[in-house]
Amino acid sequence: MKKLVSILIAATLLLCLMPLRFSGAVTDDKDHVVIASFYPVFIFAENILSGVDGITLKCLSAPSTGCLHDYQLLAGDMENLSHADAFLICGAGMEGYLDKALEQFPDLYIIDSSADIELLAEKHEHHHHDDSHDEEDHDDEANDHMWLDPLRTIQMVGNIADGLVFRFPEYAEQIIKNTGFYIEKLTLLDAEIDAGLSSLINRDIVTFHEAFPYFADRYGFNIVAVMALEPEEPLSPAAMIELSDEVMSHGCPPLFTEPQYSSKAAEVISRETGAPVFELDPIVTGDYAPDAYEKGMRKNMLTLIEALGECE
Ligand SMILES: [Zn+2]
Repeated sequence: MKKLVSILIAATLLLCLMPLRFSGAVTDDKDHVVIASFYPVFIFAENILSGVDGITLKCLSAPSTGCLHDYQLLAGDMENLSHADAFLICGAGMEGYLDKALEQFPDLYIIDSSADIELLAEKHEHHHHDDSHDEEDHDDEANDHMWLDPLRTIQMVGNIADGLVFRFPEYAEQIIKNTGFYIEKLTLLDAEIDAGLSSLINRDIVTFHEAFPYFADRYGFNIVAVMALEPEEPLSPAAMIELSDEVMSHGCPPLFTEPQYSSKAAEVISRETGAPVFELDPIVTGDYAPDAYEKGMRKNMLTLIEALGECE
């Protein structure tokens, strides 16, 4: 009897302890949280961190957000950042809220994927209210869509990997292996796009927003006009007329809308000028498939061949 009691006590103690042990095991399962600021950076990090079980990767903005132009941090974003062991950013100004985030979390560990990448200047419409500048004034802020050039993407991936290895040296081996494998894929992708587009004679394009200068820089296209320098703002009738004139003066090159924005401006200009309309994807939205970037870039290549091949 005495023995049975002690067994019962032991069993009760075990039952009391078990839930504690289990809840402890669940939260300790993934030790670190890495947060990517938006979709393309998340996709790159997903490839770099494949099979690294001790790190949970999250995307701060929903995958339907698109570019972070004018993005404001939400309360939930602040909550997420408060748990981040590293914050992966696009950089070059894409995260306009960065100062605000750092004010709140001065110890936030930032990994800037744009470090040491050669940046192109942004064409940017000013809305000065003084008389010294007019609306057409442009400044030399950097364009922050570097990932649309796969060679710059390789640099971004290298920067993210370097930052992660430095921050989490215990996973260095897997991170370095994954990064080498992904960079190999991106190198092949670049060669494939380069070859695929090399025979095009017509190289004038009109894009929706300023997302494609790096792509144009890499593969030799001329962006003769951009429909919306401020993509969140509707185009004025005067801007529409000006754009139509510009398109006609260039022999009606194809107009490229983007899946993240309304195609209304392109449709109006197309009606005015007869320029055909196609769609290019800046790859800022989509599912979390690790090959989403490669798929999106291949699709863009085929679209350009279709759009520019037929006017020869
Ligand atoms: Zn953008």
